[in-house]
Amino acid sequence: MTSYFTHLECTRTGKSYDVDGLHNLSTEGVPLFARYDLDAIRDTLSRDDLAGRAINMWRYREVMPLRDGDQAITLDEGFTPLRAAPRLGAWAGVPGLLIKDESVNPTGSFKARGLSAAVTAAAARGVRKLAIPTAGNAGGALAAYAAAAGLESYVFMPRDTPIAFHVEARSCGAHVELVDGLISDCGRIVGERKQAEGWFDVSTLKEPYRVEGKKTMGYEVAEQLGWKLPDVVIYPTGGGTGLIGMWKAFEEMEHLGWIDKGQRPRMVSVQAEGCAPIVRAFHSGAETAEPWQGAHTVASGLRVPGAVGDFLMLRALRESGGTAIAVSDDELIAASHDFARLTGIFPAPEGGATLSALLHLKEQGLIQAHERVVLFNTGSGYKYLEALNRFPE
Ligand SMILES: *Cc1c(COP(=O)(O)O)cnc(C)c1O
Repeated sequence: MTSYFTHLECTRTGKSYDVDGLHNLSTEGVPLFARYDLDAIRDTLSRDDLAGRAINMWRYREVMPLRDGDQAITLDEGFTPLRAAPRLGAWAGVPGLLIKDESVNPTGSFKARGLSAAVTAAAARGVRKLAIPTAGNAGGALAAYAAAAGLESYVFMPRDTPIAFHVEARSCGAHVELVDGLISDCGRIVGERKQAEGWFDVSTLKEPYRVEGKKTMGYEVAEQLGWKLPDVVIYPTGGGTGLIGMWKAFEEMEHLGWIDKGQRPRMVSVQAEGCAPIVRAFHSGAETAEPWQGAHTVASGLRVPGAVGDFLMLRALRESGGTAIAVSDDELIAASHDFARLTGIFPAPEGGATLSALLHLKEQGLIQAHERVVLFNTGSGYKYLEALNRFPE
């Protein structure tokens, strides 16, 4: 195929970077975005051409960061179901409720999307060793895609991360180090050692391609709804890669003429009360988020005290007319069971958190009964059995 991937762009200054190099952050210390010749794609590809393509996220290959000759490293991640949830919707007072079920991805979470894209790009540029700090799911996903590509992976996760995450990564051949601390401490270790060890750092948004993998969720929601977008997206937010990625996808699709302008959903960021830097920054009017001290929550994907893409997240939430909300661990665990009992989908606690947020926002009058709301169940409950093995009397 012809590549339409033209350059990388600094998200602060707009400065260009070449597509052949290996890049982490821009010289300004902020994320880089992949850019495409959208005008040329618009002239050659119509959204109807997608119909017969592979049932994975690479069906959107023209807007994926592939150069001529690059081969995707794929385990068929993405194109996950967008399910109606009539029983849960009736119970929550939002009958048109939909669930984007990311638990069916390889490695049981949507981290597969980002790491498929990042490992594809790194492998194509000759990288042999990849390193990642992770709160859990990203480590398993890196290990799996590195295994698929025949590369080495180095995974740093907090010691108290649930056992399923360590075992999965080790089983896939990763070198796993358990760290006394949080994902931010893991990130520091990778940063300090990467040069001497020859590791390429695939921390989220510190390399440009994980966000490209996760943006495909935005393309899929549009395609699955017949090129209409929902009214509200509720997204459990850690590093914010999916939120930022979907917002980028909406912009690209508007440019391609695949969706109408002015139809974007209100984006809602959900965090845990024990780690809610984006919620705090959103409500204080700040453009960036102060790091959260003493972060704790069983929803390990949300235990991210500071995010390099904070300003991009806050901008997307505000531009969308959305909001940010924190829920307690007790609430999000109870909501995970309600979610499972009323849908048959056994969610990650992060997915349960989106239901808690919906209930609060409905009660506050910020979501109306007639609206089309999408909850993102970002992972499978199977990796969090210790946390989820708590039921009301
Ligand atoms: C990583 C993760 C999140 C947070 O995703 P971001 O896009 O980094 O904000 C949410 N849920 C689960 C299950 C995760 O693994």
